[in-house]
Amino acid sequence: NDEERRCIGCGAILQTTDPKQPGYLPAATLAKANTEDDIYCQRCFRLRHYNEIAPVTLTDDDFLRLLNAIGESNALIVNVIDIFDFNGSVIPGLHRFVGDNPVILVGNKADVLPKSLNPNRLKNWLQQQAKAQGLRPVATMLASAKKGFGVDDLLNAIEKYREHRDVYVVGVTNTGKSTLINRIIRELTGVENLITTSRFPGTTLDRIMIPLDDGQSLIDTPGIIHRHQMAHFVGPKDLKLVSPTSVIKPATYQLNEGQTIFLGGLARFDYLRGGRQSFVIYTDNQLPLHRTKLANADDFYQRHVGGLLAPPQADEVAQFPPLVRFEFTPKEKSDLVFAGLGWITVPAGVTIAGYAPKGVDVLLRKAFI
Ligand code: GDP
Repeated sequence: NDEERRCIGCGAILQTTDPKQPGYLPAATLAKANTEDDIYCQRCFRLRHYNEIAPVTLTDDDFLRLLNAIGESNALIVNVIDIFDFNGSVIPGLHRFVGDNPVILVGNKADVLPKSLNPNRLKNWLQQQAKAQGLRPVATMLASAKKGFGVDDLLNAIEKYREHRDVYVVGVTNTGKSTLINRIIRELTGVENLITTSRFPGTTLDRIMIPLDDGQSLIDTPGIIHRHQMAHFVGPKDLKLVSPTSVIKPATYQLNEGQTIFLGGLARFDYLRGGRQSFVIYTDNQLPLHRTKLANADDFYQRHVGGLLAPPQADEVAQFPPLVRFEFTPKEKSDLVFAGLGWITVPAGVTIAGYAPKGVDVLLRKAFI
């Protein structure tokens, strides 16, 4: 019975439907295997042969079990978040699970931020955000797993704070945790088959152990899906638009009251009151922006979503959630954040509205720049 077969690496039940879930392997590979063969899931296979990890995701319950297991061990915790989407990448209640274990907070994807953004300011902001979540990291750092910067600093901080303990790397999916771990593996090993998997005691959750020089391990853990990420509302082709790959070039708009800007068909910005003002939009450079009159904006959206206003693409419009409106009058210069998509810097005292698909946050924060 195929459904009962387990990966001999991590113990996950083998399945052929979802590459991002534990135990996945391609149907053709499973079909080729004899019933008595030892089978590795694709993740363990890649790990054994290429020292490379692939992301897997967990259900909420499994994730809670994982956090509990980490909380009960004496370890250093590295929490990877996406600085482009703080709210979509925090682990709710992480501070309750970590107990007395120290946490290093890594703000990943720093490579996409515009040059005009002061890194120290960003770090301070990250610390404030962490504090608001009840988390008090022993170190907060910026990194780019993709470009490789900040990884050496992170390894140094890990050495400084781990005090001969294991290191657990945790993060929700899409924060770049796998990319970061692959970087770390390259820096730490370069030797084949140094990595092993094992299960968390009493669970079927697999962890990946990267040996450190004193017999302890750096442990990669599966991620959890954060449903409020914009990434869950776009098709695979458009993912890059909600996870920018190159440095963001801000776009400045002079707006009069009663004007609207659409960010593709994913989000909308209404300028309501405050006279003629300039607004700066920070999103992926490829995301099309359209200016229109507020009075016609509802109608414009209905007619053009999936066409001129894309993503979503035409065939995705039926499943795409309606846009939900949030109104603000910031007292100071602020960023109106569309979680995971980007933000618009607005002057103090204006009245504005931001719209995002139902389930995705729109919020105001003190301006970065
Ligand atoms: P995981 O689900 O947290 O393991 O995330 P992945 O490592 O699979 O990365 C998710 C997405 O973010 C992928 O499209 C990566 O290419 C991208 N990504 C990861 N790290 C970085 C980074 O430092 N900068 C940028 N711009 N993108 C990154």
